[in-house]
Amino acid sequence: MTIKELKELVYEANMELERRNLIVYTWGNVSQIDRERGIFAIKPSGVPYAQLTPDMMVLVDMATGERVDSACKPSSDTPTHLELYRAFEEVGGVTHTHSPAATSWAQACKSVPCFGTTHADYFRGEVPVTRMLTRDEVDGGYENATGRVIIETFEGRNPMYTPAVLCAGHGPFTWGKDAADSVHNAVVLEELSKMAMWTLSINPNAEKLPQHVADKHFLRKHGPNAYYGQ
Ligand SMILES: [Zn+2]
Repeated sequence: MTIKELKELVYEANMELERRNLIVYTWGNVSQIDRERGIFAIKPSGVPYAQLTPDMMVLVDMATGERVDSACKPSSDTPTHLELYRAFEEVGGVTHTHSPAATSWAQACKSVPCFGTTHADYFRGEVPVTRMLTRDEVDGGYENATGRVIIETFEGRNPMYTPAVLCAGHGPFTWGKDAADSVHNAVVLEELSKMAMWTLSINPNAEKLPQHVADKHFLRKHGPNAYYGQ
């Protein structure tokens, strides 16, 4: 893939966030990595969506975390994307939004339980919430610390099986095999977050989907014996 193609994919993925109504103003950002080149492309900071163009996407060096070539500043969340790419080697794209339903779960500091098969098709188990960052973490490199607390939350979990997290008091990050896939997961997470809220408003004692049903739905799409959609 050329650099031009990488920037076009990242531009398209960012525009898709707006088309799907996951962001207002300049909230939200999407990136995609080229691991052979050791760079990723990410949305610039503070440019309204209507003014974005593919060549404004900012290239960031994986080794230094610094921008490579653009006149624009990279998104302020760039260090979080960098930490996730360094820790999760299979991740090819990362999305961050403040989409209202997922952000409401993040603000409530609650993981989104798996109440049904829509959730189980995409995410293995709950979508976890991180712990709150400490004062020292916020003061000493807030965006890097945000990445590190996500990685801490995924100790013992497969990030490709549950490609989403809620940062406590903040909002969701999702990821996937590329930028478009990470946006897709952000859209799905927002819908699941709404469904989970409605489920609990109808029945505050709603039970999680039984494990054998959750396993069936997840494993027919993922894992070694996947068959769904083939
Ligand atoms: Zn944010």
